[in-house]
Formats: sequence, C-alpha cells, structure tokens
Amino acid sequence: MKFFRNLSIKSKLIAIVLLVSVLAIFTGFTIVIIKDIKIFREDLVHATRMTARAVDEFCSTGLSFGKDFSTQVETELNRLLKAMPIIEDGYIYDEKGDFFAGYNKNNGNFSPDIKNLEEFTRFEGNFLHVYQPIFYEGKKYGSLYLRSSTSTLDQKIREYLTTMAIIVTGLIFLSYILALKLQGVISKPILELAGVTGDISIRTDYSVRVQREGSDEIGRLYEGFNVMMEQIQLREKERDKAEAERERLFEELAEKNKELEQVIYVTSHDLRSPLVNIQGFSKELKFSLEELAGFLESDKIPDNIKEDVFLIIKEDIPDSLKYILTSASKMDALLTGLLKLSRVGRMTSTFQKIDMNRLMNEVRQAFEFHVKEAGATLEITELPYCFGDEMQVNQVFSNLVNNALKYLAPDRPGKIKISGKSEDNMAIYCIEDNGIGIAKEHQKKIFEIFHRLNPDQTKGEGLGLTIVNKILGRHGGQIWVESEAGKGSKFFVQIPNTIMLGSSYHEKKAEN
Ligand code: ADP
Repeated sequence: MKFFRNLSIKSKLIAIVLLVSVLAIFTGFTIVIIKDIKIFREDLVHATRMTARAVDEFCSTGLSFGKDFSTQVETELNRLLKAMPIIEDGYIYDEKGDFFAGYNKNNGNFSPDIKNLEEFTRFEGNFLHVYQPIFYEGKKYGSLYLRSSTSTLDQKIREYLTTMAIIVTGLIFLSYILALKLQGVISKPILELAGVTGDISIRTDYSVRVQREGSDEIGRLYEGFNVMMEQIQLREKERDKAEAERERLFEELAEKNKELEQVIYVTSHDLRSPLVNIQGFSKELKFSLEELAGFLESDKIPDNIKEDVFLIIKEDIPDSLKYILTSASKMDALLTGLLKLSRVGRMTSTFQKIDMNRLMNEVRQAFEFHVKEAGATLEITELPYCFGDEMQVNQVFSNLVNNALKYLAPDRPGKIKISGKSEDNMAIYCIEDNGIGIAKEHQKKIFEIFHRLNPDQTKGEGLGLTIVNKILGRHGGQIWVESEAGKGSKFFVQIPNTIMLGSSYHEKKAEN
C-alpha cells in the first residue's frame, strides 16, 4: 500500500483503471468460458444420446428376435455408429446382460462390465459414457453402452481458450492505452496545479493564478487555489505593511533614544557649570561670613547690635549655606551619574569572541587588593566564552564583583565565587557571594537608576547595576538575581556565545 501511495497520480490512475478493467474482463470471460464449456459438454451428451436413441430405434426389433439376429443387429449398429465420428465404442447386451452386438472404432479391446449397472451418462477419463436400457413395445430386451471420445471436445475447448486469451490480452492492452489517454483528463490539471505550487514555493510569488474551465471538482479546486492565493497575497501585503511600520517605529524609537541620551548628556553636562558656580560662590560666601564675624569683634560696634548680628552671621547664614552646599554636592553626584550613564549609551562597541578566563583574571588582579583588605576569598572556575565588547563586559563583571565585596556581611569571612556554563547559544555566568543578601521585595528595584537599599551604610551612586543592565541589553543578554536577605546573593549574567545579528544591527542603528 505504501508503494501505491508513493506512485504519481498518473501511475495511480492507470493502475486503478487497468485493475478494474482486468478484473471486469477476467470475471466476464470466466463466466462466458465456463458457460460455453458447459454447452460444449452438453452438446456432446446430446449427440451421444441422440445416437443412442437411433441405435435403440434401429436395433431394438432385432434384439427382440434373439441371438439369431445378432449379426444383422451388429451390422446395423456398425452402420449407424460409423456415421458418428465422436462414438468410440458401442455395445448391445441382451436382457441377461450378455454381449449381443458391438462396434469398436479403433478395434480396441474395451469391455465394460455392465452387470448391476443402472442407467447413466457420465464423463470419465477422456470419454463420455452412456448406458441405457433398450425397450421394444414397452418391454426391456437388453441394454446399450456407448462411449464417446472427448478429445474433439478438449481440442475445441483448447482452441476456444486460446482465442479467449488473445481477446483478453487485446482488451487489456486496449484498456491500458485508454487508461493512458484518459488519465490525463484528471491528472493533467492536478499535475499543472502541483507544478504551479512548486514554482510559487521557489519564487514566493503569490500573484500567480490558475485558469480552468469547467465546474467539476478540479474546477472547484482551481477556484479554491486562486482564492487561497488571493488571501495569502493580502496577508503578505499586510505583513509587509506591518513590518515596514515596525521598522519605522524602531527607527523612531532609536531616534528618540538618541535624542533622550543627547538631552541627558547636554543637561547633565551644562547644568554642571551653574552648579559649580553655586558651590564656588557658597564657599566664597562662607569665607566672607568668617571675615564679617571677625569685624564683629571690633569695639566700635555697640553690644546690642553685636549680639543680633552675631546670631545671624554665626548660626542662621552658615546653616543655610550648609544646606546649599549639601544639596549642590548631591546634585553634583546625580549629574555625574547621569553623565556616566549617557556615556554608556554613546559607547561604540566592537563585538568579538571573549576568552572569559583571561578577562576574569584581569578583573581578579584589579580587585586583588580590595579582596585582601576585606579578608575575603574570590574563586573563579573554568568559564565558557561569550561574544561581546571586551571593555563593556569587563565593566559588567567589575561592577558585580565590586558590589559583592561592598555588600559582604561583617560577621563572617566573605566568599565570592564566579562560575559559568553554556546553554542554547548563551553563556550564563553566576557571581555568588555570602554577603548581606537582598530581600525579595527589593530584588527588582535594585536595577533601577539611583536605587540604593542602605544609602547610609555604604558609599555608592545607585548606578552600578543600571549600567550593567544597559550594557547587557546592548549585547542581547540579561541579568537577574536570586538572593536571600542575611545569607547572600547570586547574580546571573547571560551573554550570547554566538554573533547575534539582531543585536549588532540595532547596535549600529543606535550608534548612527
Ligand atoms: P550602588 O552599589 O552604587 O548602590 P548598584 O546599582 O550597584 O549601586 O546597586 C544597587 C543596590 O543593590 C545597592 O545599593 C545594594 O543595596 C544592592 N546590591 C547590589 N549588589 C548587591 C550584593 N551583592 N549584595 C547585596 N546587595 C546588593
């Protein structure tokens, strides 16, 4: 069945038509042949019986006269049977069953045993045997045994079968020719359609339509195909439109991003000079105040005025100045942070395969002193390579190691471990520490800009993880944290280990 399923439609149709015709021809001819052979045999039986009747008619009188007439009966019998070439032997027996007269075509020595025989007609060996009683005027005087040869019948059947075989072969050949011609009516349009679909899948040209006259199933198939193609073409158009729109939006987004980074850069950069002025003049003011305070020491100023002015100069103005200076330096830190972040966005990247074992060795060396100072250990296992900008990836790991050291628990020796594995085109690194950990509710927020959990306990700008996040975004990577407060944290960094066409493409767009 599998072989048949894999045949072409053309071969299938030919095979089906041939099979049906061969079956019909064979069945029809088998019925006709069986019927005809039966008729041939019946003809032989009929002829033999007719002969038997003639013998009965011509010989019964002689038989009724007894033995003395046996010679005449035999002569009559021989005359009659010689005229019938199908008869091989003929024997007449008297009423006791003794031989009375006989005919033997080829002088053979056939001697049937007719004692105890009932009347019969049967085919046996290559002969038809007929045995029947002979009556004269209602009284039985003996019996007749005739044997006809079936060789003529066999010959006739053989010839008949040969003719039939020739006719059947001819008919099968004719069916094949017809099947070959007629299958085209069904297979041609289907093959044409298959050809068109093949072409479409190669050229992806959905504007192709097929032409078919007629409203049969194949006509409807063609119509359905055309409708389907129209729908595909429509969807293609919509998809192209959506893709163009997406591309336009992406460009717009990249443009806006660039503008935003420019604004951040300009504002943070330009705001710094007035800030520096505020800081400078506040210091100047502080200095002038100290001078003024010196003048107050003079005896020329009356004591009551001295007291009032002293309060203003020594307490009120310095307090305000202190607030101005603290706010200015806070603003300074924020502007520096923003500037740093906008620089990350403007960095140019050179993507390459990075040997992370070498890069982490550099990071280890950079932090060697800090690790020793913190009384901690830094373990680095064999790391898989990744694809990225070496300087930026270095910054990612430096920030994370820096944090791991910064947020170690004071009550136990610090342990920091860096490990990694490769998984589905990605290298995944883990920076694990046994530090103070991060409570679940803060774990998302720590990646937000300027977000710090314990601002008074450690120094920092709340920018390290934001920068890490931004760099990884540019690399088509990501970062996430698993942590338990009081126990430690695991920062997972995922970076592609194959060249990500998409990321470098967007990267270039962002840079332009
Ligand atoms: P910064 O360290 O300058 O505060 P980051 O963006 O690097 O800024 O970190 C944000 C906050 O996340 C930190 O203030 C700290 O509360 C928390 N944090 C980061 N790394 C760790 C760590 N390894 N263990 C515990 N807390 C951490």
